[in-house]
Amino acid sequence: YDLRNEDMKELQELGQGNGGSVKKVEHTPTGKIMAKKIVFIDAKPSVRKQILRELQIMHDCHCDYIVSFYGAFLSDPTICICMEFMDKGSFDGIYKRIGAIDIEVVGRVALAVLEGLTYLYDMHRIIHRDIKPSNILCNSSGQIKICDFGVSGELINSIADTFVGTSTYMSPERIQGAQYTVKSDVWSLGISLIELALGRFPFSEDDTSDSDLSDLEDLEGTLSPQRPGSLLGIPLPPARKKDKSGGTSKKDKRKSKGVSLQGGGMTMSILELLQHIVNEPAPRLVPEGRFHKDAEEFVDNCLIKDPDGRQTPKDLLNHPWIVQSRNSSIDLEVWTSTF
Ligand code: ATP
Ligand code: MG
Repeated sequence: YDLRNEDMKELQELGQGNGGSVKKVEHTPTGKIMAKKIVFIDAKPSVRKQILRELQIMHDCHCDYIVSFYGAFLSDPTICICMEFMDKGSFDGIYKRIGAIDIEVVGRVALAVLEGLTYLYDMHRIIHRDIKPSNILCNSSGQIKICDFGVSGELINSIADTFVGTSTYMSPERIQGAQYTVKSDVWSLGISLIELALGRFPFSEDDTSDSDLSDLEDLEGTLSPQRPGSLLGIPLPPARKKDKSGGTSKKDKRKSKGVSLQGGGMTMSILELLQHIVNEPAPRLVPEGRFHKDAEEFVDNCLIKDPDGRQTPKDLLNHPWIVQSRNSSIDLEVWTSTF
């Protein structure tokens, strides 16, 4: 495809992330439906061109477990990345809609992610760097694919410059500044799998449907001294509400304390979460015995805190739970027709 912004008819907003937004579009000359990711890049023209060049590697990524790439172009002040449209969306949206995901489906997610990571690393020496439920997509043919991998060093730099990273899928070694390896992606996979199987983010014992810790308001709710929650081992006060009316909402409290979202108080909270990941035992598939021993053991393997003891995606493809998932008779096309 020779892609130009004028040829893109916007059909629907699919979602918003930290870096930009994603829209469902029709490429009018061909009638092809695509997902167009719009990333705002505050950088020099030379850097933007460099990013565009680096993104071209995606043209060579052909794998059943990787979202197809159609092309990218500059559209000041943004970069547009056009990719395969996945009509069932991402797994964060799916579990928020239908609740905890059946463990057999979670097994297929694990298989797909490991296959995708192994392909990216073995064929292109690419490390994903951002495995999480919102980057694992599904379509109504029952295919599961990963997207948003780190092909462009310049793009990673440019986005990192524009916001404070609150990534909570980050491995202990990354938090401590060690080099990124494929094993860091394995950690992120482990956290993501628990989130899907339990229907909530594993670092929060708060079982409201909203478990997105990148939501700063929630992060403060979980970590502030007033609400120590699970992280400090002190019992939680009664469940908080998303209160938009009264004068006791968190926002107001924060204002009265003079703490802004970017302020020192908030930064401490994020640091507390990162410290928890580094210092406390890794989360597990709980309660023990609810899931098959092989699934529990697989997740424990992903979440071994020392990267030297953690396996690579390729090693983990031989794990009994993954072999079982590959042979399972579950029909994901039928499963996707239920939501
Ligand atoms: P972050 O910016 O922190 O990585 P994110 O992954 O949610 O978060 P985006 O990558 O901008 O942010 O994606 C926004 C949403 O768009 C996703 O949550 C997903 O539901 C949807 N989406 C992304 N790519 C596609 C696609 N190819 N097909 C269908 N939906 C998509
Ligand atoms: Mg994404």
